[in-house]
Amino acid sequence: MPTKSKSSKAKKPSSKSVKYVYSFGNGKADGNGKMKSLLGGKGANLAEMTRIRLPVPPGFTISTEVCTYFYDHNRTYPPALEKQIDEAIHKLEASMGKKFGDATNPLLVAVRSGARDSMPGMMDTILNLGLNDRTVRALAERSRNERFAYDCYRRFLQMYGDVVMGVQKRPGEDHEPFEVVIEELKKELFPNDPHVSDTKLDAPALRTLTDRFRKLIRERTGKDFPEDPREQLRGAVGAVFGSWNNERAIIYRRKYNIPHEWGTAVNVQAMVFGNTGNDSGSGVSFTRDPATGEKVLYGEFLLNAQGEDVVAGVRTPEPVLQLKVEMPEVYRQLQDVRHTLESHFHDMQDFEFTVEQGRLFMLQTRNGKRTGFAAVRIAVEMVKEKLIKPDDAVRRIPADSLSQLLAPVFDSNARKTTQVIARGLPAGPGAASGKIYFSANEAESAAQKGEKVLLVRIETSPEDIRGMLAAEGILTARGGVSSHAALVARQMGKVCVCGASELQIDYSTNSLHVRGQNFRKGDYLSIDGTTGEIFPGEVKTSPSDIVRVLIDKDLTPAESPIYRVFAQLMQWADQRRKLEVRANADQPDQVGHAVAFGAQGVGLCRTEHMFFEGDRIDHVREMILAENADERGKALAKLLPAQRSDFAGIFKALKGLPATIRFLDPPLHEFIPHDEASQRDLAEKLGISPDRVARRVKELHEFNPMLGHRGCRLGIVYPEISEMQARAVFEAAAEVQASGIKVRPEIMIPLVGFPKELELQIALVHQVAQKVQKERNVKLSYLVGTMIEIPRACVVADEIAKSAQFFSFGTNDLTQTTLGMSRDDAGSFLPRYQEEEIVRQNPFAVLDQGGVGKLMETAVKLGRSTRKDIKLGICGEHGGEPDSVKFCHRLGLAYVSCSPFRLPVARLAAAQAALKE
Ligand code: PEP
Ligand code: MG
Repeated sequence: MPTKSKSSKAKKPSSKSVKYVYSFGNGKADGNGKMKSLLGGKGANLAEMTRIRLPVPPGFTISTEVCTYFYDHNRTYPPALEKQIDEAIHKLEASMGKKFGDATNPLLVAVRSGARDSMPGMMDTILNLGLNDRTVRALAERSRNERFAYDCYRRFLQMYGDVVMGVQKRPGEDHEPFEVVIEELKKELFPNDPHVSDTKLDAPALRTLTDRFRKLIRERTGKDFPEDPREQLRGAVGAVFGSWNNERAIIYRRKYNIPHEWGTAVNVQAMVFGNTGNDSGSGVSFTRDPATGEKVLYGEFLLNAQGEDVVAGVRTPEPVLQLKVEMPEVYRQLQDVRHTLESHFHDMQDFEFTVEQGRLFMLQTRNGKRTGFAAVRIAVEMVKEKLIKPDDAVRRIPADSLSQLLAPVFDSNARKTTQVIARGLPAGPGAASGKIYFSANEAESAAQKGEKVLLVRIETSPEDIRGMLAAEGILTARGGVSSHAALVARQMGKVCVCGASELQIDYSTNSLHVRGQNFRKGDYLSIDGTTGEIFPGEVKTSPSDIVRVLIDKDLTPAESPIYRVFAQLMQWADQRRKLEVRANADQPDQVGHAVAFGAQGVGLCRTEHMFFEGDRIDHVREMILAENADERGKALAKLLPAQRSDFAGIFKALKGLPATIRFLDPPLHEFIPHDEASQRDLAEKLGISPDRVARRVKELHEFNPMLGHRGCRLGIVYPEISEMQARAVFEAAAEVQASGIKVRPEIMIPLVGFPKELELQIALVHQVAQKVQKERNVKLSYLVGTMIEIPRACVVADEIAKSAQFFSFGTNDLTQTTLGMSRDDAGSFLPRYQEEEIVRQNPFAVLDQGGVGKLMETAVKLGRSTRKDIKLGICGEHGGEPDSVKFCHRLGLAYVSCSPFRLPVARLAAAQAALKE
């Protein structure tokens, strides 16, 4: 259980005057849509929908402050609460004309959780509360529908027994105990029909079921199911608050960075019934398509069902559009509601509704989760529809979600060679291929071993969340586009196909049968979350529309609607951001891609990445094995032309944009073979003895290469290496400049800690520059600067800035050296650190602002104190991570540099940071 937060301790909501309970109903509400932190998202929007006169069943919300109090005071409640709940119930009874526990006209309520941000399916819900042996008869009489009344009662017993009284699967049991009781009864009543549906159970059967459920509760808990509705309510409220800290809710919050101290509210609302017959039902809809963003009413509906049935994916619902035929008046009202919601909330809404005997009721609305595709399309189109401003569009799209637009799709040729084996509903776009696993645990451990995994389930439940996180894609046999699998996958940006009802999945044999084919655990399947298709085996993937337009250039903007909305968004982002974006790229073609994705230069060219092409590695090895400067010089002379032509290619691709070129950084042992056979081959190639190779390998061995002979230490000990690299840069610059293209090299010295290290290297660079300029009779303009990637450099940045014309924060190494955690090995313990909340996020992915960030702040301040206009950037992996980009904006850096495919993310995050000012 998470520790209590500072902020929750700071609040003291114990005074009698504090309002804990907020009523809503009949067009009036104590709260409103802005009060999400107090009323939770659901409670605030129920109040808001009530105010704008949408048909909301009346009720009340118990505030999140009560949740905070509950956890701060050993699971007890503020003394003033009971009375406020009493008053709210009286109000509710008056407005409904019904009474809690009444033997003729009983009030029934739903009790639901509702945190500030929605956490779909993670916390508990209890429906039909208020039923007991007496009130169920009243309900039967008033509705003239005994079956309906007992169906509600058995659902209530089942939910209450499970959630409040803890009647759940025990270790070693395969099925939920209530399900077992249902199955037994079905077997008794329909011995010849093993697949009989629940709807075949008539009123007497359901009554028997309620008796058996009560007996089960007594057997399992030693307690009777409580008859008194007030006691039921107390139990339900406690269970909802308690569910804030169940395991899956904690995992979910960790994943989505929802603070544990927020707490949940509890909503108590008069029941409306979707299960009274075929003129009733429940649905979940979106005001636009959450997968593609298309402006259509989108969602699904189950006739004669309560809301939980739709979300649980137990029955596959029908598309909501079908209501046009089945309930035209309700359909018309839904279209009105859709417009009202969007024009009021100015965003795509995801809403739940119930139809009770032809009458529409709204149970919830919230901003709908959507794919990256839909997020961009909806925001851009809403600007065109004048529902929002371009600033809002830029602000609201999670920057990270843009990476989905760049994700691969199946290669169309590879796709043609394979046959669709089944189809499901397209629930999370993109192409995924992987080995199939039928349990979340197995999927998780296979992924940890480095396998690409598809999680295949009959349906998913919140327990599967870890497996879903680990999988490339998720495939289910049951459930609709708003089932758990679909919602969660979309939010995670995972590829998902759901409700593929032809799949026969057998957990006991870990196999899947479909149209005469069998697939076993570990076999490959491929799924297309954009079309819903399922393929056997591994299917090759190909680039997205954006990549095809910008890079492959085999698609035009006119042919790609998604490209056009993407381009519009990027234009708005670029107009707003102050940070420049550069790319980490080492090859001319990569640089070309980077420019297409909006790079304003290269922020990091890792020169050692150029060492592996063709026979270059042989020259590198020859250089490493050299016994003296002369020999080294000869080997370096062979490397020079290759480096020069790469640099020339990069300068050409940049067309005048700057390129930060980093001199050799990794320790030399990384370039030489460690096994005997390869060492023999190398010796033969170089015409030297294998012993000499082996001896050198031994000499170069380091216990901790991260802290060893690397970075500028190489250039200090072997100045010839830096000389060669400087020459390659300047000769390439001279060559490209002569062809009429502007060239702006920025030479960057890595891993500097002492000012003298940099001074020595800079002197050498200037010498080479002078020579080349003289030899070629040209004038070159260039900068020399350093990476800031060890803590000492941060604290002596004023000294270093005397010679450095720019700093680029190498936050990969700066994180590693500041935390004393190896960037390559920290994976073995970081997950536990995250679980224990020692760190909230992986510090190698998301900048540790409180530690590493402080050092950066120091370096910025000191650097500027010496050189006011020193150019500052970041080129560690954090340069493409939205929160880190925003931090860099606040620090006042000039640019962030990241991998080409992260550039759109960085551009958007930078714009969001600028808008926040
Ligand atoms: C860094 O350390 O952040 C950096 C960009 O350099 P490299 O990842 O090559 O060590
Ligand atoms: Mg580094």
